[in-house]
Amino acid sequence: MTEPQHRHLVIWEARHDNGWTTLVMEQPDGTFVAWAGPDDTVGVDYVEDGPEHAQAAAMFALKRKSGHAQCSIRCSAFEMRLQTMTVTPPQ
Ligand SMILES: [Zn+2]
Repeated sequence: MTEPQHRHLVIWEARHDNGWTTLVMEQPDGTFVAWAGPDDTVGVDYVEDGPEHAQAAAMFALKRKSGHAQCSIRCSAFEMRLQTMTVTPPQ
């Protein structure tokens, strides 16, 4: 029996002037999820092998899904934060 592990995963998030958010989230396997969405829901648009690629992919998803062609001064840049995640090993 193994206790659940707590991991700190890195998230990069940027808010845009059309109300959408682009998000990059590190996964326990070392890949990075790229996502663009209009609310707090998080999904997967692309999976990339590095944070820079994932940020570019998230911006591409934002452009494709919301028509946000270009960032303005009211858009924020990607900001990094840490998210604690409980990882329960398979039984
Ligand atoms: Zn923008």
